[in-house]
Amino acid sequence: MSQRYIAFEEQMNKTKRINRQMVRIRKKILDNWYLRCDPLLFSFSVKITNAQKRWGSCGPRGTLNFSWRLIMMPVEVIDYLIVHELVHIGQPDHSRLFWTKVRCILPDYKEREKCLKQNDRLLTL
Ligand SMILES: [Zn+2]
Repeated sequence: MSQRYIAFEEQMNKTKRINRQMVRIRKKILDNWYLRCDPLLFSFSVKITNAQKRWGSCGPRGTLNFSWRLIMMPVEVIDYLIVHELVHIGQPDHSRLFWTKVRCILPDYKEREKCLKQNDRLLTL
């Protein structure tokens, strides 16, 4: 098996893992009364990107982008970023309401966010 094929397989497995987490967290969010009335949350798509400047982002039509480098982070931190971007679908800014929604789903989000920021240098790998 070629190195390139092995790398591709690894990438696919990482993508599948993130998608499984997305489904789990999405359910958690939909169960949450804060966000239940937000129709935009019912449709979104996910892209795994090669972004080197940010771990994730949310496009205008509910496209959530995640750098594949996120896979180097602990699962708790990946969960945080997924929640962060999902909440952006209904709340595009970083207002107080945005952070209230994030906190509602992940009360310890600050710790998780800290870990992400401390590892920003991994984005340039
Ligand atoms: Zn944000």
